[in-house]
Amino acid sequence: MFRTKLRVLRSHGIQYIKHLDEAVLPEIFRGRPILFDPEETRAAHVATVPDATTHLAENGDSKRTTDGRIASQAEIPEGETGKTTCFPEKHNNNGNSMPRTYDVIHRELAGLEALCPTGAITAVPFSLDLGRCLFCGECARRAPHLVQFTNDYHMATNDRLALNIVPGTESIKLDPDRVRREITRTFGHALKLREVCAGGEGSTEMELGASMNVNFDFGRYGIDFTASPRHADGLVITGPISANMARALEICYEAVAEPKILIVAGTDAISGGLFANSPAIDRRFLDRVQPDLYLPGNPVHPLTFIHGVMALTGRSFRKTNRKR
Ligand code: SF4
Repeated sequence: MFRTKLRVLRSHGIQYIKHLDEAVLPEIFRGRPILFDPEETRAAHVATVPDATTHLAENGDSKRTTDGRIASQAEIPEGETGKTTCFPEKHNNNGNSMPRTYDVIHRELAGLEALCPTGAITAVPFSLDLGRCLFCGECARRAPHLVQFTNDYHMATNDRLALNIVPGTESIKLDPDRVRREITRTFGHALKLREVCAGGEGSTEMELGASMNVNFDFGRYGIDFTASPRHADGLVITGPISANMARALEICYEAVAEPKILIVAGTDAISGGLFANSPAIDRRFLDRVQPDLYLPGNPVHPLTFIHGVMALTGRSFRKTNRKR
């Protein structure tokens, strides 16, 4: 038996992540996005516009409309490429190309707003709501000069408005002033959570389960899931809260003894996600009860969950690691 275990360990390598706070996710992971200032992007575009003579010469093989104009980017059918760029075909009378370039950036922003399936992007002022974002990456593929995803999984916060990021937002943090005192006082050493899948599709549930596996071993910090709300100190909601689950969720929440915490995990739970306007969901519970922690992600990464709960309960990774 022991030899078998050794063989398994040798072939799989050591999976256990000793210091969770030092874990770095690969570049491919889509975590906290960053937005670029449209005004700066516009300036960069203008800086790269060639002078009038060169530009007109280069336009020799551009796509043209039926009335002979050089087609704008928006007029070129999808899939067709042409030498026409988003730059103006000619400089205007002042030799200034900025008004057209300005239009292009704003058209791109409006395009992003229309492209986003959950309405997470607002064009003016440019912002992205992580509570609605599906992390599909379409916006970053369409306009990498305006949106890019990083591999930063630190996205948990207790302020819903903090999830609305704008150009220049460099991190998302928990606001210590909003944390109820009884949370840090009561759950600073041990915490049992009950997970309620309120119409979720199973992805966030799987990731929460993964936070307890051999890699992440969240249980090392005295935090665990329990099967009964009577044994729990708080609830974790996943899923958009379907009408069928609304009452069950309420009963489950009432069964947890005070003081208790409420965590909403994943885009569906935070905003309803793709189902936000569906008549099949009933989110009135969240109008009555204010969540203590919002965990963006679709699904939520185990490290987002672990760091969020640790921060909410005032735990220190280093202190706990030292004790081990
Ligand atoms: S990643 Fe997808 S869901 Fe998120 S803002 Fe971009 S397009 Fe919208």
